[in-house]
Amino acid sequence: MGSTKAKERINLASPHMSDEGYELQYIKEAFDTNWIAPLGENVNGFERELAEKVGSKAAAALSSGTAAIHLALKAAGVGEGDIVFCPTLTFSATANPIIYQNAIPVFIDSDYETWNMSPKALEEAFEKYPEVKAVIVVHLYGLSADMDKIMDICKKHNVAVIEDAAESLGTYYKSKHTGTFGDYGIFSFNGNKIITTSGGGMLVSNNEERIAKARFWATQSRDQARHYQHSELGFNYRMSNVVAGIGRGQLKVLDQRVAKKNYIFDFYKRELGGLEGVEFMPSNDWNEPNYWLSSMTLTGKVRPVDIMKALEKENIESRPVWKPMHMQPFFEKYDFVGTDVSEKLFENGVCLPSDTKMTDEDLERVVKTIKGLWFK
Ligand SMILES: *Cc1c(COP(=O)(O)O)cnc(C)c1O
Repeated sequence: MGSTKAKERINLASPHMSDEGYELQYIKEAFDTNWIAPLGENVNGFERELAEKVGSKAAAALSSGTAAIHLALKAAGVGEGDIVFCPTLTFSATANPIIYQNAIPVFIDSDYETWNMSPKALEEAFEKYPEVKAVIVVHLYGLSADMDKIMDICKKHNVAVIEDAAESLGTYYKSKHTGTFGDYGIFSFNGNKIITTSGGGMLVSNNEERIAKARFWATQSRDQARHYQHSELGFNYRMSNVVAGIGRGQLKVLDQRVAKKNYIFDFYKRELGGLEGVEFMPSNDWNEPNYWLSSMTLTGKVRPVDIMKALEKENIESRPVWKPMHMQPFFEKYDFVGTDVSEKLFENGVCLPSDTKMTDEDLERVVKTIKGLWFK
């Protein structure tokens, strides 16, 4: 207040290219070889390097995480009228591809222990819909879902599992990378994710044949023939060779980004964790999160909207927790299994700025603004 100097913007999460300029080196290679599009060595290299990083046999580089979910559903055989279980507490991009396939989502509640899919609600859903075709699991904000419990239940029912790991690149569950427990995993390189290609996604699986098929669908399903021949519906979902170059460079700094996100989370927890009514997103000893977004819930006098307003005044970005899908006008006609956990997390939750370019001074500014609401 009173200062005439414009306050510098602090973002929730914004693109952060490497200091070393790795991304530009790969892009330059693409230009030098005129392998701008389509495909080329950066696409192959990015697929190979990401698969190796997460410990999956094969990967297909695609135009977005949403496209990857769409092709995962198709690869799992999900089609018209099939039921797919989907967490309710997520971004709409998890659920939209179910509708692209003319399938039917059933939304599953979260639990407080993980903020992710509740194994209990999942079991209830299986009782109600034993004919379910696939289950999508999300690892929200870089916290992993309780995969042992979820995989046990899904194996018992012999159903395909797709992990939406769009927010959890760099997150491990019991030392195994998220996105590699189910039949398919997907990652996103959208602008606000932990690493970005400006836009893009990856489908991973240990089933190399299915990944090859996904690449075929993603390039308009062109049959092996001199002329253009198509015996299946095709999509234009492939990643370009220039974009993949950015991805290869970003992958080299992923560990650094995870370390910084951890630092940011620890800073907030130390400074704000003791405030009345504040509770940070859950820690579990089996979870090594990437802390993509540091988030907390508020159950005292200070509400999430108070924090968001106070930060906005200081030119600092923050966000509510995802609004559950079963509360969305477009999706509310579909069934929901659970109680009020995800609704409460939405009501009480706030995501704090977690930009990896933040300095200690920036973190102090955020913390001071928030603390001011308790100590007036
Ligand atoms: C970002 C995101 C997606 C979609 O990824 P895009 O690359 O933007 O299509 C899907 N699911 C979740 C949970 C996400 O956060």
